[in-house]
Amino acid sequence: MSTSHPTDPSAAPPACQGCGAALRHSLVDLGDQPLVNAYVPPERAGAPEPVYPLHARVCDRCLLVQVNQVLPPDRIFSDYAYFSSYSDSWLAHARAYADAMVERFGLGPQSQIAEIASNDGYLLQYFLARGLSAYGIEPAANVAQVAIDRGIPTEVAFFGEETARRLADAGRSADLLAAKNVLAHVPDVNDFARGIRILLKPDGVFTVEFPHLLNILREVQFDTIYHEHFTYLSLLAARTLFERHGLVIFDVEKQPTHGGSLRVYASRREAGREAGESVARVLDEERAAGLDRPQGYDRFAPRVRAVRDGLLAFLRETRAAGKTIAAYGAAAKGNTLFNYCGVTVDDIPFVVDRNPVKQGMLLPGSRIPVRPVEALVEARPDVVLIIPWNLTDEIVAQLPEVGTWGGRFVTAIPEIRLHDPAG
Ligand SMILES: [Zn+2]
Repeated sequence: MSTSHPTDPSAAPPACQGCGAALRHSLVDLGDQPLVNAYVPPERAGAPEPVYPLHARVCDRCLLVQVNQVLPPDRIFSDYAYFSSYSDSWLAHARAYADAMVERFGLGPQSQIAEIASNDGYLLQYFLARGLSAYGIEPAANVAQVAIDRGIPTEVAFFGEETARRLADAGRSADLLAAKNVLAHVPDVNDFARGIRILLKPDGVFTVEFPHLLNILREVQFDTIYHEHFTYLSLLAARTLFERHGLVIFDVEKQPTHGGSLRVYASRREAGREAGESVARVLDEERAAGLDRPQGYDRFAPRVRAVRDGLLAFLRETRAAGKTIAAYGAAAKGNTLFNYCGVTVDDIPFVVDRNPVKQGMLLPGSRIPVRPVEALVEARPDVVLIIPWNLTDEIVAQLPEVGTWGGRFVTAIPEIRLHDPAG
């Protein structure tokens, strides 16, 4: 770091959210960006919006990849507009998880299941339907209310040591404690891990799923980096984090969700479970990819710039050929993509989304308007850019009409790829 202004606090590297070490190793600097979920109402189309630095770094001591936390979590989570139940493939994933856990761990009527960041109850509904006892812990009050209205017991709370102790003291310790894609949103990962240990029964099992950093790096999924995602985990980093708090990872499975996730199984150290071969295998794979040393991360930033150049060239050529384009899916990741690449409404006139909460709004930064899916059928664009590339097959299958006017689909991560319409 700079030594010319040793007393200037702004020159000091930030501290690692996991181990506190100084963060000196850059992964990728994505510049100043608005919050990806700060959709802009049309009446504020001309108003400026706040932007914050978005810079991912890797800790050279505990290997936790992270971005600087620019806002308190209550600001980020207010008016949280994401409802898990909107994706068909995600619901199928949730149902399969419930079936697999009941079978593997012999869960029965005496078992207590809990989920952290339970959203609208998309997962717990499958446990409850089997007659099991389950409750959720969800910080967004408006989302929790949807679950409660559906008959799914839900605590409105941030999860951490304090919440875990309150629930454990109330006799609500868990045989199975689930967390799916919440770890990245946790502002204090140590408080979270302490809470896991407290809320687990002595022999209880914790499962957590997160996008695998190895895939993010390999597939250049830099659009999953945004202010609301504080951390990006390898198994190496997850193991260090959980072991710090007396939790042992005893199994790991690869999942296809979110472009390649890990499902990690952990329990209290004194439960006596030992790391299986699956754990050793994934750790070996990460070491082979260089994830065990900071220099192993250095190839990522140039590849991110290549994705940007490829997308901008494709948009230019499409326009030069007189073809029209629209985007599908106002997903958060699209905002990192568009704002890092400098894509505007001149490049892509609108994006469609199934979520009525987003329809009528403008994307933060790029100010591209969000319309209902029907707008796509009306406009008949030659090219449909799929933003949630992890749902490409599902989206192509949902829109066979695109083929009737000769349109094609395209994805931009990890490079421009064309997809034929269904049928
Ligand atoms: Zn660290």
